[in-house]
Amino acid sequence: MARNAVQFQKGLSLSAFQARYGTEEQCHAALVAWRWPEGFACPRCGGQRYAVCGPRKLFQCSACRHQTSVRAGTVFQASKLAATQWFLGLFLLTQSKNDIAALELMRQLGVK
Ligand SMILES: [Zn+2]
Repeated sequence: MARNAVQFQKGLSLSAFQARYGTEEQCHAALVAWRWPEGFACPRCGGQRYAVCGPRKLFQCSACRHQTSVRAGTVFQASKLAATQWFLGLFLLTQSKNDIAALELMRQLGVK
């Protein structure tokens, strides 16, 4: 019987996940790195210089003063859930061998 490579791919343990994405700062840094792998680029003018403003960590372009967040234009936009909850939900979805019920996900994350 042929060995299914998908079933034997290396996963990420819960403890390794928590060490990598356990805090809001770690999740924010990961989102920034995935969103702008070559450094920040203003969505309006393409400028690469910026300042980070306020508790929401908005990126303000130094050229045109346009403000954007790392979540803008993503599935996380307008969500009030913490990034750590999003990341944990995505981890549970992707690490489950079969699938995970919405109610089970709600229980695991403690959200409604
Ligand atoms: Zn700009």
